[in-house]
Amino acid sequence: METFFPKFSKKREGVNVIMEQKLLKNVNNLILNAQTCTGCGICSEACPEEAISLGLVGAVIRGAVDYAEPVYIDEKKCSYCGVCVVMCPFNALTLKIDGEEALPIIEREGFPEYDMVTAIDQEKCVRCTICEDVCPRDAIDRQVAVYEGAEEGAKARQTALEATTKFTVDDEKCTKCGICGDLCPAIDVNRKPFSAESGKVEGEVVWNEELCDGCTVCVEACPEEAITVERIVSSGKLDGTVSIMDENCCTCRWCAINCPTEAITVEKIFEGDIEFNAEKCPSGCSTCVEVCPANAIYLPSAKPAKELKGEVEPVIAVNKDFCILCGACVNACPGEDIITLKRTGIRIKGKETDLFLKIKDKLCTPRTSKVKEGAADKVELKMVETA
Ligand code: SF4
Repeated sequence: METFFPKFSKKREGVNVIMEQKLLKNVNNLILNAQTCTGCGICSEACPEEAISLGLVGAVIRGAVDYAEPVYIDEKKCSYCGVCVVMCPFNALTLKIDGEEALPIIEREGFPEYDMVTAIDQEKCVRCTICEDVCPRDAIDRQVAVYEGAEEGAKARQTALEATTKFTVDDEKCTKCGICGDLCPAIDVNRKPFSAESGKVEGEVVWNEELCDGCTVCVEACPEEAITVERIVSSGKLDGTVSIMDENCCTCRWCAINCPTEAITVEKIFEGDIEFNAEKCPSGCSTCVEVCPANAIYLPSAKPAKELKGEVEPVIAVNKDFCILCGACVNACPGEDIITLKRTGIRIKGKETDLFLKIKDKLCTPRTSKVKEGAADKVELKMVETA
């Protein structure tokens, strides 16, 4: 006999795929943001109910199919425990219980979480734009005022730096000719009324510091070399803050490696290694380049023929400094044994529960690129030991 509860449903709303389990007293929703999901498949390996399977990762992320998601979640098999939410390194999943975000697996079972080590030393940070530009996950929150020319109501450029300007006129040399005042709105040459009594042009040069931007055009233009302008910049720091949004950060370390003042600390959440068998890669595919959420994979630039010395040029490569060992490339690669991923550790905080240890074991099992597609919507991975 069919029972009335629980009831299950699944629907897509914009970028979200919403799985629902309706019980007699409460409603559980597991929400997958299909755009944020990278197809790394960590949720699939972590799910204790085997409710998640990999989709057509490469095709979905590349936008070749728009009706599917990188991973499929079976709303009926799911126990709405939230393990996948905790383990997703990209924050693509949310669990809601009666409309409120909740993680019962942490609250009740004491399941551990990733130990995110991300920090920006505000003293060292000069609030430049590098980290914001290099971050592949939009994880940098740069709150620095916009300056004139960028948008309406923006700050005057002169306010970007703390600077003091010293303007002096040598009265012995100055003839009050008026050239400097004519050229610059910061200078007024106030002449005294002309009188036959003195028979001379007299007056004073008045300078307004607020209007002066230290361009020194007055110095260059003064025919008597009577003007000196000294500008002292006391701080090269823009007003504002730059911070890392942990919920978006995938710990690739693009920002930390490129920060010119070494103000950023980011530690990767996975330890291990990845190898690319470039000679097996059919050139021109580049699926892994497109799916890599850390922008770590690249097509090496061609070397001039004279430098090749008989070697074959690699068609694909990974910069291990940036690779986060998430495995999205392994899942998406259509070739066999091209990419091999070996995780050896996971940075977590909290107690390693039995369930976590099982998951860790799975995540730390070496695997290599896809060898076959099973059902139309499922890809299978080859574990290195059993291959
Ligand atoms: S909530 Fe738990 S059971 Fe459901 S898909 Fe996620 S890990 Fe699996």
